[in-house]
Amino acid sequence: MAAHSLKTMLTAVDRWYRRQGRTLPWRIGPKHRDKGAKPDPYLVWLSEVMLQQTTIPHATPYFEAFRARWPTVKDLAQASWEDVSAAWAGLGYYSRARNLHACAKAVAELGAFPQDAAGLRELPGIGPYTSAAIASIAFDERVAPVDGNIERVVSRLYAIGSDGTEAGWRAAKQVISTRAQEMTDALPAEGRAGDLAQGLMDLGATVCTPRSPNCALCPVWDFCEARKLGEQLRFPVKAEKKAVPVRFGSAFVLTRGDQVMLVRRPPSGLLGGMMMPPTSAWTDVQADDVLAEAPGEFAWERVGEVRHVFTHFALRLDVWTAEASSRSKVEGEWLSHEDALAATPTVGRKALALVLKATAKRR
Ligand code: SF4
Repeated sequence: MAAHSLKTMLTAVDRWYRRQGRTLPWRIGPKHRDKGAKPDPYLVWLSEVMLQQTTIPHATPYFEAFRARWPTVKDLAQASWEDVSAAWAGLGYYSRARNLHACAKAVAELGAFPQDAAGLRELPGIGPYTSAAIASIAFDERVAPVDGNIERVVSRLYAIGSDGTEAGWRAAKQVISTRAQEMTDALPAEGRAGDLAQGLMDLGATVCTPRSPNCALCPVWDFCEARKLGEQLRFPVKAEKKAVPVRFGSAFVLTRGDQVMLVRRPPSGLLGGMMMPPTSAWTDVQADDVLAEAPGEFAWERVGEVRHVFTHFALRLDVWTAEASSRSKVEGEWLSHEDALAATPTVGRKALALVLKATAKRR
């Protein structure tokens, strides 16, 4: 794209963002920025970590709860892991919660967030995208974060496709990143990299959507190669997703009156450090004698199966329940139904809900 066209396009994105950009709880909008308000890197970081692989409506209540309870990164650094993991329960990807806590401690030790992408990348759990997003949004460093929305907009603007293979898509992504960086580099001296990034993110989320781009309302319609070709939906062409393998396991939900027993999982590994009903190992085939891994000697009864998809595999979890007496000796923490549901990650919550439903039916 010619330099003058690129500049006109950036002006169009900026104008649109000023009028149509989303209001988000972690964001300082362009009009407030004009008056000197600055984004809080702690809130930008928190939102970026929470939004990895989940939606804004799902992440927002968690964001608000974290901000109310731990208003600064120092507060979060001083929180116990038990409190942080319980507050994270339901957001998924629990290694992120561990990294979040470790990162808060590292920043508290440094005294503040590093102000550029290179420095941010040194922190636990901050990769190339997140470092670029924080550096751009919080500090206006001229680096281009490329999330799914920006990827789609830039891919369509420049008609960057692939042949659907992994190698083809990797190469296309590289070109998309280069174009996104060129756009950022072309900002005028007074332009703010954070506004451009957030403008493109919003454009992708609200106008240039995956299946029904609303080109008639698009501020960059004139510049869009995919639109000129009439092939908006052909871009981007990603590599076909491989089917995820299936693993099998069992969850053992022990109840005692109105309480259920949870155990804390070992600190490393999947769902590390989270509260869960005891489970068997998760294996490629269903074990023959699943009750061999159940805690204690109880009259276990199978109530059904729950399914949950993790990043690299899909889990089918057989759910068992048994009633313990007050004299039963078993290691774990007894919690009310409500507290147990709040403390467990989504897969644990599914298992508990299944048992509570089955128990309620029997009563
Ligand atoms: Fe997306 Fe259409 Fe705008 Fe192109 S013109 S960027 S396809 S909404």
